[in-house]
This record gives sequence, structure tokens and C-alpha cells, in this order.
Amino acid sequence: MNTCHMYEQLGISKEILNYAAAIEESLADRFFEIDATAEYNQLKVIHGMQKCRVSDTHFAATTGYGYNDAGRDTLEEVYAQVFHGESALVRPQLISGTHALHIALSANLRPGDQLLSPVGKPYDTLEEVIGIRDSVGSLKEYGVSYRQVDLLENGDFDFEGIRKAINEKTKLVTIQRSKGYQTRPTLSVARIGQLISFVKEIKPDVICMVDNCYGEFVERTEPLDAGADMMVGSLIKNPGGGLAPIGGYIVGRADCIERAAARLSAPGLGKEVGASLGLNQSFFQGLFLAPTVVAGALKGAVFAANLYERLGFSVVPDSTESRHDIIQAITFGKPEGVIAFCEGIQAAAPVDSYVTPEPWDMPGYDAPVIMAAGAFIQGASIELSADGPMKPPYAVYFQGGLTWYHAKLGILKSLQKVWEAGLVKLPVM
Ligand SMILES: *Cc1c(COP(=O)(O)O)cnc(C)c1O
Repeated sequence: MNTCHMYEQLGISKEILNYAAAIEESLADRFFEIDATAEYNQLKVIHGMQKCRVSDTHFAATTGYGYNDAGRDTLEEVYAQVFHGESALVRPQLISGTHALHIALSANLRPGDQLLSPVGKPYDTLEEVIGIRDSVGSLKEYGVSYRQVDLLENGDFDFEGIRKAINEKTKLVTIQRSKGYQTRPTLSVARIGQLISFVKEIKPDVICMVDNCYGEFVERTEPLDAGADMMVGSLIKNPGGGLAPIGGYIVGRADCIERAAARLSAPGLGKEVGASLGLNQSFFQGLFLAPTVVAGALKGAVFAANLYERLGFSVVPDSTESRHDIIQAITFGKPEGVIAFCEGIQAAAPVDSYVTPEPWDMPGYDAPVIMAAGAFIQGASIELSADGPMKPPYAVYFQGGLTWYHAKLGILKSLQKVWEAGLVKLPVM
């Protein structure tokens, strides 16, 4: 049986397949480079696991308080080792990326302190954590103020603005690596390093935290290598490798992590408690698989950028740019495009392929959001998923794919739907 026939069975027309085949062929060098990074990162993870003497006894479940959970403690050592931090907090009790960021921020800020974002508006769910939008329990309610310096029109850091914004109250600087729901470029680890050096030159004792969501294993280095004091992320994104069913991580300077642990559990308890409930094996194995899973997702993102850019859509990153996260934004300019794209991603899923996604008012977001995901783990965006807030510029944010082949099918199916909706003309091949 041939592969084209299988694609046709899955609803992909010959026209789409022909166009996509030409695009894929042109990407051999990019894919080679992505695989080389995955190889490096795979070795980095294995080296970390060997150094920490990971053993199958670490996969045993603990319950209750979770005292002496050797698996949990070793997993945290492995994260610290792999990402080059002094200490780590990696827990199923960190419910999500937002929760991990909330813990890292609220643990390391005190009343009267100021939080600074020198890279513009943070991810939507952080607005209520910080109190940019009023919310019960926000940092603002606890007397932590917030300042923001936007990126310049051309995407550069506003160094002058940042210098002026840093004052005696500035305690913590939050740097979001990924673009989130914005069309600004994602920051490379090198650029993050440049920003951190600049900030530390002005105020050496300021804590620099990086929201590393979607960035893990995309490059060979991570933000801690570039001088960050803490980096934070979600286990249902890159580092969970698709296997972690929940969780978040905070890695970095020992004192920052100690404060985070005290905030997550309780002062005096810190890292000593927190049962792992049998999840350790998924966390270890997910981390082990993460470099190759991220590579598959990256290939999908590069493929989508090339496929849609040549059809005249604006894509961020563009077809040739180097990658610093796994997210691909495609701007359709109208709601129908966002909806058709998401319908295609949904229809290509192994789970829930028969449901039709619709925009809804999600908690934490200020406009209805349409989400497509047929995931094994609810909301896991390392799995093939797409989402778009229903507001101008009507861009869809696409990410993930546990395998390149699934990512490819999803993208083809999205184009099929966009094409069938009459929103695009295919080039004559
Ligand atoms: C996903 C994400 C978050 C929030 O993580 P959740 O797990 O969805 O709560 C925060 N920041 C960025 C940049 C993200 O991509």
C-alpha cells in the first residue's frame, strides 16, 4: 500500500499532497539541523540521568506526606543537572505552567517589591497573577507593584527604557522566552543572556526569572546557561515529553527554589513533602523522550511556516528563521481562517477526531478562544494542538505533535479545511 493512499483515506486531497511534497523536499537541511540538536539534547538528558544514578526503584509510588521520596528527589536532581541549576522543584503539585510561575513569583517577591517585565506584556494568564487585570489573590493585592517596558517597534529591547524602569524597588525581572499569544519574535537564549547581563549590570542582586514554556530542548542551551536565576515551565509542554500527565518545574538558584518550595507546600516543610503518587516514571521517561518529541514538533512548525507562507499568509516565525520555541503563528486576518485551521488539527487527532471545536470563554483569557486538541492528556500542548483568541489579527497559534508524522498530517488537514472553505488558492504545481 502506498502512503498517498493512506493520506487520501484520511481526507487529504491529491492537490494538497502534491503542493506539500514540494515544500517538504525543500526542508531537508532544516530537518537535519533539528535532528542534530535533538541528538545533542538526548545525550545531555542521558548524561544527567546517569550522573544522578537513576534506578528503577525511583519509579515507586509514595503516598500521603511523601517523606523520603527518593524518586522525586532524584528527578529534581536530574532537572538541576540537565538544565544547569543548583536546585529544582519538579512536582505534580505544580498544576500547570501558570501555577509554577505564580509560585516562583509569589515566593520570591515581598510587599513593596516591584516586578519588571522588560519584554512587553506577559502571557495572558499571568495578567491576573500579577494584577494587570484585577483578580482575587493577585500579586498586586499583596502589595507587589508591576512595571513593563515594551519591545521596540523592530523587536529590539528598549535598553534606555529598561534602565529607567529599574529602581530601588525592582526585585525580580520576568522574561518570557516564547511569544505566547503575540506576534513578536520569540527570544533566543543568546538574546535572553544579553538582556540579563544588561539588567545585572544596573542592579546585580535582581532576580532574573525566565518563563521557559515551549522553549525546552529547542536549542542546545537553556536560559540558566545564559545567566538566569530561575527558569520555569510546564510538564505538559516540552520537558514532559508527552508522558507527564500533569506538573510543572522551577529550576535555578538554591535560595530561589527553597523559597518556591516553602510557598508551594508550607514554610518549614519546603521540599521535604509532596507525594509523587506513582508519577515518577512518567516524569523520568517523558524527560528522556522530550528531545525527540520536541524535534518532531519543530519539524511540524517549520513545515507549517513554509506551507502557509508560500500561500501568502503572514507567519511568525517566517519560513527561514531560526527557532527558539515550538510555536508557529499563522495570521489569517479573519475568524473563518482560524476556525477552519483548528477544525483541521482536530480532525487529524488520534483522540476526539470527530468533535468540532468552537470558540469559548476560557478562564484566564480576555477573549473567546478556539482550541483544537485531540490529546491523550487534557490540554497538553506538546501534543498537536492549535488555539487562537477570537480577536484581531485573527492569528492561530499552532504547536506540538508527539511525532513528526502526526504533526504533518495535522497541518495537511488544516490546509485541506482552509482550502475547502475557499480561503486559499493552491499554486499550480
Ligand atoms: C503555556 C504558557 C504559560 C502557562 O502555562 P499553562 O500550563 O497553560 O498554565 C505561561 N507562559 C507561556 C509563555 C506559555 O506558553
